[in-house]
Amino acid sequence: MNNKIDCLQCGMTLSREMRRCPKCDDLLDEQTDGHVVTVDIAHDRETVRQAITKLNKTLDEVNKDRGAGARFIVGSGRIREAVGAELATYLYRKDILSFEFEGANEGAILVMLRKH
Ligand SMILES: [Zn+2]
Repeated sequence: MNNKIDCLQCGMTLSREMRRCPKCDDLLDEQTDGHVVTVDIAHDRETVRQAITKLNKTLDEVNKDRGAGARFIVGSGRIREAVGAELATYLYRKDILSFEFEGANEGAILVMLRKH
């Protein structure tokens, strides 16, 4: 795995372990390129457990890639309920900024990790 990242503020190449850019003083953990990924976690015959695993993995990846957030297609059944409960825990731990159900049938959830 590549353990170098570029500071999105000034472009300096830094080690991933650094939390603050030594050149421009920006907080690296809070930087984002603004991208939001969309992942369907409910329409490939996933069990609730598989859907939650996909959710955890996606959020982990988006966090590492410095994305702004992720949109999960959750359908209307048990997965939707389980994901809501899981995200409430993320929010409680402050691992995400917010989450909200989207759309007329509320079959999607938008999760924000960073301000953009
Ligand atoms: Zn910088």
